[in-house]
Amino acid sequence: MTQLPEKHIAVLGSTGSIGRQTLEVCRSLGIRPVALTAHSNTELLAAQAREFLPRLVVVTEESLASSLKIALADTPVEVASGPQALEEAATLPDADTVVGAIVGVAGLAPVLAAAKAGKTIALANKEPLVSAGALVTAAVKEHGARLLPVDSEHSAIFQCLHAGETRDVAGVLLTASGGPFFGKSREELASVTVADALKHPNWVMGAKITVDSATLMNKGLELIEAMWLFDLTPDQIEIVVHRQSIVHSGVVFADGSLVAQMGLPDMRSAIQYALTYPRRYPVEGMSKLSLTQIGSLSFATPDRSTFACLAACEAAARKGGLYPAAVNGANEGAVALFLEGKLPFLQIGELVQGAVEALRLPGEVTLAALLEADAAGREYVRQFHK
Ligand code: NAD
Ligand code: MG
Repeated sequence: MTQLPEKHIAVLGSTGSIGRQTLEVCRSLGIRPVALTAHSNTELLAAQAREFLPRLVVVTEESLASSLKIALADTPVEVASGPQALEEAATLPDADTVVGAIVGVAGLAPVLAAAKAGKTIALANKEPLVSAGALVTAAVKEHGARLLPVDSEHSAIFQCLHAGETRDVAGVLLTASGGPFFGKSREELASVTVADALKHPNWVMGAKITVDSATLMNKGLELIEAMWLFDLTPDQIEIVVHRQSIVHSGVVFADGSLVAQMGLPDMRSAIQYALTYPRRYPVEGMSKLSLTQIGSLSFATPDRSTFACLAACEAAARKGGLYPAAVNGANEGAVALFLEGKLPFLQIGELVQGAVEALRLPGEVTLAALLEADAAGREYVRQFHK
């Protein structure tokens, strides 16, 4: 076990893919989280609580609170439920770092609360930044909080920024694996199933982000995420398909140098880096990156007409204001329908793009307006899906 300065962390979404890998990192570094939260998987949450004995566990689905309380009755762990309790977990005075690993815009309220409480936020949950980047970054600034990216591309960019000065940054390279459907035509995609979309070539992730990777929505969301994290315009971000997921992304400096970060596709490195920054420690059980074993690395331009979600996010990013919230809401609605088997794969892109084109969203960026834009995106999908 590696000895590192004492860390006090709260893990929001501890039962998910990122949450579970965060706890693996905690195990290997000897970190005992002070709070854990989940939406409905109380069985796993209870097991995690028994292992780590945090001060607080939260299940957001209130009807499950009593069974969780019974499961943990013989432990000192406090059990709470509901949205208020989630914010409590995000702002616990005894946590200095909050890991944001909830999926979707459902993570916005706790991320905002953590920012307002001046926490260091290790952020995997990209949707709050996509929808409400202006509010989240303003709260971070105002309350002396800090955002450390966990998304592997953004962690890579963050690492590469250390090679120069911010004023000398010309742009960034954002790599995309291309997902399971890279190179396929619209005709070939017409009949793909949920199971096909859930087979990602390089990463094992939660269902929503796996579908987002198949539609390239994930890269569109990451473009907007990068704009907020690193103060970039869409034109400064070049998206490149890189099938091997070894070059995790990079920064282009004024002199034309591209500084990129490479590694094996294993989210534990990005999670661990956010938790130990600026130090680096071995990642338990991770094999060494061997470029000779990989042999060659390839790079290609994404197909924006087949993968309309990417074009839709780029359009929303350019329009700015409330459009990123709407594009994200439309996508969350469409992906939920797709996963229920109620929407063909290609319609995700059509509806997400349709929402950006059809919705009229003037007005100021306030929390209420962003939530309305998110709802308008979802409503557009509900109305127009066949
Ligand atoms: P997941 O579906 O595996 O886990 C989601 C977690 O959020 C679970 O703990 C679940 O209980 C909780 N949750 C779900 N709905 C909730 C709600 N309404 N309220 C409160 N909690 C809720 O998702 P994941 O793959 O771990 O992804 C989490 C986030 O990290 C996403 O935003 C994703 O885009 C991002 N991300 C994931 C990966 C990855 O490798 N999985 C990589 C980069 C970024
Ligand atoms: Mg990513």
